[in-house]
Order: sequence, then C-alpha cells, then structure tokens
Amino acid sequence: MAIAGPCTIDPKDPNRFYETAEALKEAGAHAVMGGVWKPHTNPYSYQGYDKALEILMEGSRRTGLPASTEVMDERNLNLAMEAGVQMLQIGTRNALNYSLLRAVGQAVAGTDTAVLLKRGRHIGPINEFLSAAEYIVNFGNPNVLLCHRGTLPSCEVYRNHPDESITPLLKEKTWAPVVFDPSHSVGKALHVEACSLAAVAYGADGLCIEANIDPVTGLGDDPKQAITPEAFRRLLQKCESIWELRS
Ligand code: PEP
Ligand code: MN
Repeated sequence: MAIAGPCTIDPKDPNRFYETAEALKEAGAHAVMGGVWKPHTNPYSYQGYDKALEILMEGSRRTGLPASTEVMDERNLNLAMEAGVQMLQIGTRNALNYSLLRAVGQAVAGTDTAVLLKRGRHIGPINEFLSAAEYIVNFGNPNVLLCHRGTLPSCEVYRNHPDESITPLLKEKTWAPVVFDPSHSVGKALHVEACSLAAVAYGADGLCIEANIDPVTGLGDDPKQAITPEAFRRLLQKCESIWELRS
C-alpha cells in the first residue's frame, strides 16, 4: 500500500497537483496526499492555505484515490473532516499532543476516516508511540496506521536517521498496519528507493512517499526529497516483489 503526493499543495498551481495525482494513480498509488497546512520550523516559510484543501479534494475526486493530509490543530481537523478527507495525518511535531490526539479520536469515531500517526522525531520508547495511537483508537475507530519516518540524525548525511528496523517490533506489539516514510527519513530523493526497499523487507505494510511531477519547482520539501511519478512506479514495482516474497 502506497500513499504518495507532494509535500505541499501549491495553491497557485492546482493543475500541478492534479497532474501529479493522476500520474501517481497511474503509477500505482493507493492514496494521494498533499500538504494543506504545514508545520515548518521556520515561521517565515509558507504555512499553508485553507484553499489548498479544495485542490486536494478535487485531485482525489479526479483520480478516485482517497485523500490524505496533515492536520495540526482542531481548526484544521474540523475543516478536513467537513471536506471528507479520508486519511488524516498527525505529523511528528504533534505526535505527543494529547489534546489533539483526543480530538482526532473523537472526530473520526463512527466514521471510516483513517488516521496516519507519525512517530515523534525524538527517539522515544515504542510504547510511547503505541500509547499515542491508543488516544485515538480509544474513541472507537481502530483505523490507525503507525508511521515511522526517521529519528534525530546520528550524522549529517541524512535528514533523519532511517528507523525502518523498528518495523518488526511494532508488528510484534500491535495489529495496526505499519507504514514507513522514507522521504522525511533520508531527505534525499536519491536514497528514497533504497530506504523504501529496506522498510518493506523489514515488514512494513505500506509507504508514505513525497512525489511531484516536477520536484525541483515544488514547494516545501519537494526540491530535495520528492521523487517523480516514474521513479515512484519503479520503486513500487520492486517493493511489490518483496511484498510477494513475504506473503
Ligand atoms: C511533512 O509531511 O511534510 C512533514 C513535515 O512530516 P513529518 O511530520 O514527518 O516531519
Ligand atoms: Mn515534507
């Protein structure tokens, strides 16, 4: 299972998102993602725009793929739920924001909306991650995907230290699908494939990958770490061979 799309939807260029979504669908993606609201370290960077939510939903409608985006607060959460986003993401910065986790759990209770919860960037015990997921599922919707995406880098080479080796530990302790995000782990398009293959070999059920038809001119993280739909297709084909071997 692969979720793919640009880090940030460019509200001035909706066609870029539609074309990316269509190319990713054609390349085998199962859900399309796009950042509407962004948790940037630098407060002067682009912070998101509500209008991008309409673009996300239109891309989902055109492709028939479920839409996924990160919500950072209850305002984002309400707008995303009203718009019908099928998979909410909780990013690493909010991984332990218990009031948001509780609000998300309440909002998705009794719906089909899934939640992709990312593990905090700071290395924490696996149980801390599982307890965060428990805050959501407690309200009755068990549809949570556990996503790890690298921890604080142990060297300057990668953006974060790829932590795909925790996949079997997560799978040992929970029934929830485990998804790996290679893009924010390595932070370099060149290494996304190797990191994805390793995660799938370790047992990951899915991948969450930044991709853009033209990464170089994309917003947010895309110039450095997004892959093209063509690279995504090749990567997914290789991962599928591993998934088959494992089954
Ligand atoms: C992102 O998806 O662009 C992002 C900021 O992710 P993370 O929460 O993993 O840093
Ligand atoms: Mn990003």
